[in-house]
Amino acid sequence: MMINPRNALNFSGGPGALAQSVLQQVQEAIQEAPGAGLSILGVSHRSDWFAAVVAEAEANVRMLLGLPADYRILFLQGGATQQFSMVPMSLLSGSTLAADYLHTGYWSGKALPEARREGPVRTVWSGADCGFARLPTDAELDFAADAPYLHYVSNETVEGLQFDRVLGRDDVPRICDMSSDFLSAPGDYERFALIYAHAQKNLGPAGVTVVAVKEALMAGMQRDLPGFLDYRAQADAHSIYNTPPVFAIYVVMLVTRWLRDDIGGLAAMDAINRKKAALLYRALDDSDGFYRGRAARADRSRMNVAFNLPDAATERAFLQQAEAAGFSGLAGHRSVGGVRASLYNGLEIEAAAKLVEFMEGFRLQWR
Ligand SMILES: *Cc1c(COP(=O)(O)O)cnc(C)c1O
Repeated sequence: MMINPRNALNFSGGPGALAQSVLQQVQEAIQEAPGAGLSILGVSHRSDWFAAVVAEAEANVRMLLGLPADYRILFLQGGATQQFSMVPMSLLSGSTLAADYLHTGYWSGKALPEARREGPVRTVWSGADCGFARLPTDAELDFAADAPYLHYVSNETVEGLQFDRVLGRDDVPRICDMSSDFLSAPGDYERFALIYAHAQKNLGPAGVTVVAVKEALMAGMQRDLPGFLDYRAQADAHSIYNTPPVFAIYVVMLVTRWLRDDIGGLAAMDAINRKKAALLYRALDDSDGFYRGRAARADRSRMNVAFNLPDAATERAFLQQAEAAGFSGLAGHRSVGGVRASLYNGLEIEAAAKLVEFMEGFRLQWR
């Protein structure tokens, strides 16, 4: 069976590139999932076979993140957007104390109004004044000791800004949207009370969101929510509260297995991701100002490299020629325009090197 070679050059901000070996297995599973005797699209979510898939996906995520047994790993629907609401519904409604939120870019800005519907929110820091060109330093951050929780986004996908440290106080639960850098590097993940990440950037197709939540945090959650929106009900049902997205969860299992066995864990993944990002940022920095990075150097994302060219017409020509040369998904997010090269786990170093070569050629021809 053939895999479309253009998949290897998918630089989209999401859904992102997936490893060729995973795509191959998915292709086969559409006909017959190994051990199930059926197409993955027709396997029952109540089967022992699927229970084993969920168990392996959970175990892989737990092992890769290095999380102890007092975390539950959930596979939920509704994307990261549903988490923008589920978190404050569970932890903020009825509170007189404000939750701490950081406003560092487009996606953290989407989480804020959803939280405000449920209870009081304090914006600890906003990057609006600097056009979300940088992240805050520790000196600019003053976290409240009595906040029900702190919420932030580890990697701002649109602007290409990434924290490379854990924020907040150890006595306030940390909650983090890691949708666009989940499982991309090792970290101190047990310092978070709740981590969420939808699949479609770094680990599979849209339709499933991975949540890692500490049992102690769940114990204090709001009790009269609709069952579907209640983390505890979802945990009790082992993510099969209702019909789950079997296909999407299966792909997440394959991707986490690939990370574990083929890549060799998050340190190895990080080394690859750093090489890709270094190639791209060097191409920007060595371009005599032709390619202009959006993010402050210290806050550059290793997942999303956002940049501009000298003017809109040149950007259009660049995107057109890149598309014709086989690269896809390079247009910047519709809210900011420009160009964005997303370097998710599934994108190979060779693809990043090819893009850099194309960028060099374009720059020299344009000058
Ligand atoms: C893409 C993205 C989202 C949006 O997620 P949906 O699954 O579409 O709701 C949220 N947060 C971050 C950091 C993202 O990159």
